[in-house]
Amino acid sequence: MLKAVNQLGKEFLLMDFSIQQISHLRSTENFLCPICKEGVLVKAGAKVVPHFAHKPHSMCVNASTGEGNYHERGKIHLFKWFKSQGYNVALEAYIPEINQRPDIFLTINKRKIAIEYQCCRISPEMMLARTRGYKRYGIIPIWILGGNRLNRKRTNTSSFSSFDQLFFHQFQSNSPMSVYYYCPDAKQFSIFQNPYPISKTKMIGTFDFYPIQFINFPQLLNLQNNFSPNVLLDIWLKEKHSFRKRPHYIIKASRAYSFHQYLYLRGYHASLLPSIIHLPIPNLSPNEEPYSWQARWVIEHLLPLPLGERINVIDSPTMRYPLLNKQPKPQLAYARLLTKIGLLKHIQGNIFEKRREVQFPRTLHDGIKQDEELIKLLKSTIKEQLESEE
Ligand SMILES: [Zn+2]
Repeated sequence: MLKAVNQLGKEFLLMDFSIQQISHLRSTENFLCPICKEGVLVKAGAKVVPHFAHKPHSMCVNASTGEGNYHERGKIHLFKWFKSQGYNVALEAYIPEINQRPDIFLTINKRKIAIEYQCCRISPEMMLARTRGYKRYGIIPIWILGGNRLNRKRTNTSSFSSFDQLFFHQFQSNSPMSVYYYCPDAKQFSIFQNPYPISKTKMIGTFDFYPIQFINFPQLLNLQNNFSPNVLLDIWLKEKHSFRKRPHYIIKASRAYSFHQYLYLRGYHASLLPSIIHLPIPNLSPNEEPYSWQARWVIEHLLPLPLGERINVIDSPTMRYPLLNKQPKPQLAYARLLTKIGLLKHIQGNIFEKRREVQFPRTLHDGIKQDEELIKLLKSTIKEQLESEE
């Protein structure tokens, strides 16, 4: 914690003092936690941000979360950043009504915003409870992850644990899903948007990087990086290629075991699946590989459906994302994509009609060719759509 009070209730932010001043304060003041009013210790040295700490085993909501120096430095940067933009901002403000203490608390006219800067893993339940607490009290929660949590794999690929996937924000139903990171070492925000999962943890999307002095808070929240469909589909074609050629041994220890067993028991093989399985759907799916649910949906619902018959596409959410304005509907998005390539026709709402039979490749070579043709078709339908919108 960065803030404490003395016995008269006067607030002290240790970061405002020099090392000499701090050692003087240490001998003249008795510092208390502003929340539980217990005595706290001064921690200062050459390598740490000067801060206060509760005595061990404190149950106070303000007690150290063990997030360390990296977290404290980032928190100070963010606090100063808000302050420099003229916001009414408080560091480690305690909200007694909900017994929560956000890292930074903003008041903009009548709107209240809690900024949580999260660098270490906490339990998902704790994250959900804190988010709910703010919302119930009419406070907008915004979680910024520590840059140390960013796990970028390639230009457009990043990896997210199921915990990190909770931090996708979407403020309006038409704004992109976004995760915000801040790194106090690089003094920079990193923003990941437009997630298209290729596995339970790996996602394709867009990255933006902004040094903290070159972006303000409204710009950060309104950032909208449009993913060029051609770039996305080019990456996807490569992914489809490696998916088809991946050695698909049925090994009991592997994560993919149940998927391949599922196919095997029904007489299918992953390398000879129709091209429509494993397509980019903007969605989050920490519980199942995207190709796995797409294969199940095609095999169980689409294949048995006679031509001209209708199907009601219903998404059963397996997980709720607390910071999204609307929950993802991957199956509906998938049906819409199949509509673009003429396999389905949209009737109304969630009702679609089957217009064409699903094509299976006979050989691996055949499959690769069909994948290429499908991606080409998707590119041209998207292009036509963009042109007709102009
Ligand atoms: Zn306390």
